[in-house]
Amino acid sequence: MDRKVYADNAATTAVSPQVLEAMLPFYKEVYGNPSSLYSLGQAAKAPLEEARATVAKALGANPNEIYFTSCGSESDNWAIKGVARAQRKKGKNHIITTAFEHHAVLHTCQALEKEGFEVTYLPVHRNGIVRPEEVEAAITDKTALVTIMYANNEIGSIQPIPEIGAICKAHGVVFHTDAVQAVGAVEIDVKAQNIDLLSLSGHKIHAPKGVGALYIRSGVAVQNFLDGGAQERNRRGGTENVAGIVGLAKAMEIACSTIAQRREKLIPMRDRLIAGLSKIEKSHLNGDPTQRLPGNVSFCFEGVEGESMLLMLDLKGISASSGSACTSGSLDPSHVLLAIGLPHEVAHGSVRLSLGDYNTEEDVDYILETLPPIIERLRSMSPLWEGIASGKITYDI
Ligand code: PLP
Repeated sequence: MDRKVYADNAATTAVSPQVLEAMLPFYKEVYGNPSSLYSLGQAAKAPLEEARATVAKALGANPNEIYFTSCGSESDNWAIKGVARAQRKKGKNHIITTAFEHHAVLHTCQALEKEGFEVTYLPVHRNGIVRPEEVEAAITDKTALVTIMYANNEIGSIQPIPEIGAICKAHGVVFHTDAVQAVGAVEIDVKAQNIDLLSLSGHKIHAPKGVGALYIRSGVAVQNFLDGGAQERNRRGGTENVAGIVGLAKAMEIACSTIAQRREKLIPMRDRLIAGLSKIEKSHLNGDPTQRLPGNVSFCFEGVEGESMLLMLDLKGISASSGSACTSGSLDPSHVLLAIGLPHEVAHGSVRLSLGDYNTEEDVDYILETLPPIIERLRSMSPLWEGIASGKITYDI
């Protein structure tokens, strides 16, 4: 079996040739430390500032509001801990988030609970979308921060970020969004959408792993997260990953200037995949059918075990992921699928297929040919399937 289909672009993406080409000089010739005074160092400084301007432009921000980090997780940690700790000095100790954030946000909020913060985890409902009126209702005079992701990484649902931004602004509450999955998929304008802080990551948009950025609106009080040298205007110590940053800027420039083309290409492919998989008996699309990322397809199949499905897909050359936390050695189903109200048993049978720039219609054909027989085979071996098929076992979905 030679065919390979990479359908896990939400996990990571290949570095694009344009990004790699932009980066290579900074490994080979322009390898100086941008903090060094001699010309080899200074030669790396100007591209660093150009990269900052490029990232800022793509988000509608000013260059002095962009800070480079090592990944999306670092950006989330810095934003949330930095704002919370700065706000505590003003007597505010309450954070609002949702139950289906990425662990970079959820575990950060849990760590802050141990420091004495109170956290409200808002529900996200069956379609995976937060209701702005519930955000507003949760705000108190102690609220230090609202942190809500732009788009969910598992089920692809896109959140009403401009509405939530307007609410936070009206209440004078700082608003952070984790836009790691949204960059290049939806139009982002931090000023128009009233976003105070925004996290992003390079490796989801064809830049390398190990580089990210945090936008901090000027005037927002945020404690430093990484103490060290004077890099990033004294706010994030550590010698800059110049090549990675240049790569991130190139990737942002491409991703954000081609959103319309990406949507035009991916949405029909996504919807064809959704239509095909919906024909499978006892299948359930996770997340909203239209308010979703252009490449995201997330399903649960009753009577199927997700990990077995992934292994069988892999044997057929298809890389996909499940919602469950298998990598952490836990058999718990995904917190995202539980947050949208799926029963444990159903959440165990999940698969996420995330399409990206390099996928083709033939990839969709191949997945549609390959996945249904895998499900049939797994169901034929399942002790539960007979009961599910005959209606003796039913789930409340
Ligand atoms: N936030 C979201 C929504 C993500 O999907 C991811 C990665 O999967 C992260 C944060 C973490 O990004 P990174 O892998 O760059 O740390």
